[in-house]
Amino acid sequence: MTNQELWQAALGEIELNLSRANFITWFKNTGIVEKKEGLAVIGVPNGFSREWLANKYHKLILRALRNTSPEIKDINFIISSSPPKILDTPKKIKKDKILLPEEQMGFDEFEINKETNLNPKYTFASFVVGPFNELAQAAARGVVENLGTLYNPLFIYGGVGLGKTHLLQAVGNEAYAKGKKKIKYTSAEKFASELITSLRDGKIDKFKEDYRKIELLIIDDIQFLTGKEKTQEEFFHTFNSLYQKNNQIIISSDRPPKAIATLEERLRSRFEGGMIADISFPEYETRLVILKAKLEEKKATLPNEILEYIATHIKKNVRELEGALNRVIAFTKLNSSIPTISQTSKILSTIISPPKKLISYKSIIKIVSDFYDLSSPELTTKCRKKEIVWPRQVIMYLMREELKSSYPFIGEKLGGRDHTTVMYAYDKMSKEIETNESLQQEIALIRERLYA
Ligand code: ADP
Ligand code: MG
Repeated sequence: MTNQELWQAALGEIELNLSRANFITWFKNTGIVEKKEGLAVIGVPNGFSREWLANKYHKLILRALRNTSPEIKDINFIISSSPPKILDTPKKIKKDKILLPEEQMGFDEFEINKETNLNPKYTFASFVVGPFNELAQAAARGVVENLGTLYNPLFIYGGVGLGKTHLLQAVGNEAYAKGKKKIKYTSAEKFASELITSLRDGKIDKFKEDYRKIELLIIDDIQFLTGKEKTQEEFFHTFNSLYQKNNQIIISSDRPPKAIATLEERLRSRFEGGMIADISFPEYETRLVILKAKLEEKKATLPNEILEYIATHIKKNVRELEGALNRVIAFTKLNSSIPTISQTSKILSTIISPPKKLISYKSIIKIVSDFYDLSSPELTTKCRKKEIVWPRQVIMYLMREELKSSYPFIGEKLGGRDHTTVMYAYDKMSKEIETNESLQQEIALIRERLYA
């Protein structure tokens, strides 16, 4: 295995542990410069990256490398002005051309269309459809065929790594291919930061004008607008202006509109006025189909029983399935042999049963209050405001479920409530969770953050 292949395998794993933005920021233009006597030297583009990687990601990088190449005992970082050979250097760049820094990125992001922000790799053709996402996929296809008229807005929600961004961008790419050019894909976070910059620079009119010219606006991860009133306000106006012109709006979120705390009511009802489709979790058969599709994309082969093993054990989301597959492929390349089932199980052990993080009742309170955009003190006092009764019950439920705390202890930490109140809340939640799907999703999201 070359240094490049090793680094690629490690990146595949590192990527699973970071947000996309973080991953790109810190790992573009990096590579293994040298490997000897158990030390891997990693080249980074500047001192800032070096400091950051060494302080924050040292362990993660070492672990990822050791998973593929156990003889590595330590790593260090050097600034390397000519970045080591970068991953996936797209073929269309001629070798003799001097590369702009942007072009050197080497990640998929490289091919992103500057005007639309779309990444051409996300297509309908590469999007596997199963019962878990067929409604969302059908709605998305419907929208491409009938921009602005069939479902407006289209609102897609589901947990992380389940294909929201892929699907949203597939709509954009397909519309682009059909000749629509005034398309813009952006995240709610980016929308907010652009808004702030243009306010600061006195360019707000241009900002508004630009957004209002768009025929297909795709906003990813709208839950980011939670609690940001000014941004919601501006988004509302942009939304209305596009909507009135029958321009298409597509939105994604990690939860349904009604579960986005402090979303302005008028925005919420706008979202609910269109089509809402969810993406749930892929079941076994679909997981297997996804693995086969990804394997083909990567032009690799593995026996069915290994794919079946992965599909049986990796259930959380599509991103993780892909990560598991990457690991097995890396092993295959490194050893020039197909792993046995027991080797596969070892390779995947840290994904299948990651060491469980220890959590405290404080972290439950913190995560739940962040989730509902409330402040912790409100939740831990006697306050009876309607909007906090529910989150407080969620905390009670989780303290009981995750920490096995006693009812009196839970009552004490939540404003000195009587243990019978806690018992009642816990029972009520436990019953409701059995039948209420959106509650199940909410709790799953919170758990995900709790153990992230
Ligand atoms: P989300 O935005 O919901 O967090 P992404 O769209 O980023 O998830 O998907 C995570 C990864 O899984 C991406 O690489 C994406 O291409 C892949 N993926 C997700 N769903 C599917 C699917 N149905 N078919 C093929 N690949 C998928
Ligand atoms: Mg996404």
